[in-house]
Amino acid sequence: MTITIKNKVAIVTGASRGIGEGIARVFANEGASVICVARSKDDGIKVVNSINNSGGKAEFIKADIREENECSELVNRVIKKYGRLDIMCHNAGIYPDELMEEMSVEIWDDTINTNLRSCFLLTKPCISVMRAQKSGRILFTSSITGPNVAQARLAAYSASKGGINAFIKAASLELAKDGITVNAVSPGNIVTDSLMSLYGEDGAKEIAKVVPTGNLGDTEDIGYAMVFLGSDQAKFITGQSIVVDGGQILPEDPDSFLRNE
Ligand code: NAP
Repeated sequence: MTITIKNKVAIVTGASRGIGEGIARVFANEGASVICVARSKDDGIKVVNSINNSGGKAEFIKADIREENECSELVNRVIKKYGRLDIMCHNAGIYPDELMEEMSVEIWDDTINTNLRSCFLLTKPCISVMRAQKSGRILFTSSITGPNVAQARLAAYSASKGGINAFIKAASLELAKDGITVNAVSPGNIVTDSLMSLYGEDGAKEIAKVVPTGNLGDTEDIGYAMVFLGSDQAKFITGQSIVVDGGQILPEDPDSFLRNE
């Protein structure tokens, strides 16, 4: 069996760096035409040029996924150029860490709007397009933080990611009969510049100690799971989230697994 997204047209949000860049690279390596989305044009163009220079097909579209008109315009532009949209992979997100008593309502709202409200804004314009195609894959980057485990200082983030896991279930029921599946990947700790600036090198080493595989993940690890969920072969999977975390959420206590040290 070959799992493939060859010749699929895929939007990846948050593809100017980090996990989104990893997903975009894996998608392009697998033969998809990738539309990379972010606000910062310079960073997005760098990723797109690098993908195209290594034989992939990618282009950049600037959009702020908090804005309804920018989300619908994004889908319209893709349909106008490619005539179809096979995969909407909404990965962009923010994770401001602040204690609740210090967190402003603006930060709370921005986190919910960026991470959760955008799922609705990006799904909505895909529905008529994918319904007409009788196929489509709507994918989100969720997190283990919120749905599976908790961290102080990440209340808004946790609520947004828990919301994504609830959203995919209802959305999948609305779209299942049309050949459209809605799923998420819930990453554990993945090495990105943003994560490293949150934890620092020493903090990252401490976290790696409680991951059964003994390491933090690579951005491509999320990309491979997205390829599977985005493929035709995953047509019977919907409303689910796949945890990709090196086994981090499994142990009952930190000493209940053997580490490779
Ligand atoms: P990152 O390196 O900071 O990348 C975030 C991406 O999202 C950037 O491309 C950023 O580009 C884009 N973005 C942010 N706000 C946006 C907006 N309003 N409109 C359009 N694009 C926007 O973060 P990351 O670590 O790769 O995380 C990516 C996703 O994975 C997030 O959803 C995060 O919650 C999730 N996640 C990460 C980890 C981890 O360990 N890294 C673990 C679990 C879940 P611009 O700033 O240029 O717009």
